[in-house]
Amino acid sequence: MRPIHIIGGGLAGSEAAWQAAEAGVPVVLHEMRPLTATAAHRTSRLAELVCSNSFRSDDASTNAVGVLHREMRALGSLIMRSADAHQVPAGGALAVDRDGFSAAVEAAVLVHPLIAVERGEIAGLPPADWDSVVVATGPLTSDALARSIGRLTGEGSLAFFDAIAPIVHRDSIDMDVAWMQSRYDKEGPSGGGAAAYVNCPMSRDQYEAFIDAVLAAEKIEFREFEGTPYFDGCLPIEVMAERGRETLRHGPMKPFGLTNAHQPTIKPYAVVQLRQDNALGSLFNMVGFQTKLKYGEQTRVFRMIPGLERAEFARLGGIHRNTYLNSPRLLDQRLRLRAEPRLRFAGQITGCEGYVESAAVGLIAGRLAAAERLGRPLDPPPATTAIGALLNHITGGHIESIDAGPRSFQPMNVNFGLFPPIHEPRVDETGKRLRGPERGNARKRALSARAEADLVGWIQMNRTLVGREAAAE
Ligand SMILES: Cc1cc2nc3c(=O)[nH]c(=O)nc-3n(C[C@H](O)[C@H](O)[C@H](O)COP(=O)(O)OP(=O)(O)OC[C@H]3O[C@@H](n4cnc5c(N)ncnc54)[C@H](O)[C@@H]3O)c2cc1C
Repeated sequence: MRPIHIIGGGLAGSEAAWQAAEAGVPVVLHEMRPLTATAAHRTSRLAELVCSNSFRSDDASTNAVGVLHREMRALGSLIMRSADAHQVPAGGALAVDRDGFSAAVEAAVLVHPLIAVERGEIAGLPPADWDSVVVATGPLTSDALARSIGRLTGEGSLAFFDAIAPIVHRDSIDMDVAWMQSRYDKEGPSGGGAAAYVNCPMSRDQYEAFIDAVLAAEKIEFREFEGTPYFDGCLPIEVMAERGRETLRHGPMKPFGLTNAHQPTIKPYAVVQLRQDNALGSLFNMVGFQTKLKYGEQTRVFRMIPGLERAEFARLGGIHRNTYLNSPRLLDQRLRLRAEPRLRFAGQITGCEGYVESAAVGLIAGRLAAAERLGRPLDPPPATTAIGALLNHITGGHIESIDAGPRSFQPMNVNFGLFPPIHEPRVDETGKRLRGPERGNARKRALSARAEADLVGWIQMNRTLVGREAAAE
């Protein structure tokens, strides 16, 4: 059988290789280190963790990344097996001994009879006779390969930095203060957009206090290798505030064309707008609020905004070096490049974010590639599972843009906002009415239980294709 070529032996590539090989398909895994370095990796090991040693929460009942852990374990993930075997104490989180972890991944890959590891950079598009390729080269994809991918996908389809504005759970916004309206009540191109934005009003005093807080807040410095990737049109809010106290009020916080539905006679001095971020309408991003403020500071400062006092953030803002595709436009549901389907993508380059998410997308990419090679096409898991929700965000669930603004697809960690909504439990098992946080936790438990049942259903439906878990039954 012809091999699948996997480029990049990081979190996603190692997992993809493992999954394809376990399904019985030969794999060649190409890793450029140690011959060619990246700016963040320090060793030659496969699956090196470049920064923190945490796989985040291991709580599968109320945390979406915990649900993702559970699903990956159920699907025989090498990354999770190695993480579990090299845990260090970290309370409810899964943290690992980084050297033991990557040594375990590498050892398992090297002894697998169906995996050959070749060291060397793939410095351009793969040769034409590689008919099944998984590109898993990560946020620090080598320049030569990134340039070739950029040429293939077209201008603006491959980003080199993410400038992320914070994303808020819609149900945590106080709509007694905020209101829905598009600027000048303008319809979007698809119609029906006259009230597409959430608007949070500010008085002059509130605006002045907010500017003081932004200027005084602690910021994260760029790392040396990142440079300073500012370009006008995408400046961090704190840089705008430093340029002048009124700059934000004439930029992303301008109040024009908006009437406060709760107090129509009072003109707001400034307005923060939030725009729908996913097709489900459960997440909204803060328009123009890309920032390098420290995470704790963002939570504190952005909760000063009227209507966001109790905001729950699905992700906070940031600006990092990060190579990633405009996947909703470029990739099909099975992670193949529409323009050249022999190329499949996996890991952070697809627009997921984080070690666990990258490995999860590698897991599913490996299975999809193997299934195709075996002539038994596999449907991706349903969007109600954590892996399915993540895939759905990458390949289709994201709103491209409501107005003619810049493209807005940004890398995202898994979170419950990506899951289709569920009927919210209002009472507990004893019939007692649930309140506040109890209700939120009950909702998360319900989403987690649905994900568990639906993953089992998906495994059963695809039992001819899944490896170990079907064999174990
Ligand atoms: C500086 C930095 C810090 C981060 N910190 C965290 C963190 O603390 N927690 C977290 O959850 N996430 C973090 N991330 C985000 C992300 O989770 C990791 O980058 C993760 O390793 C991504 O997995 P991946 O498999 O997609 O890419 P990687 O793990 O980076 O793997 C890609 C592999 O491809 C190889 N490669 C690249 N180009 C080529 C080529 N042309 N030919 C052959 N091989 C190639 C690279 O050497 C690398 O081994 C961080 C990212 C960066 C850039």
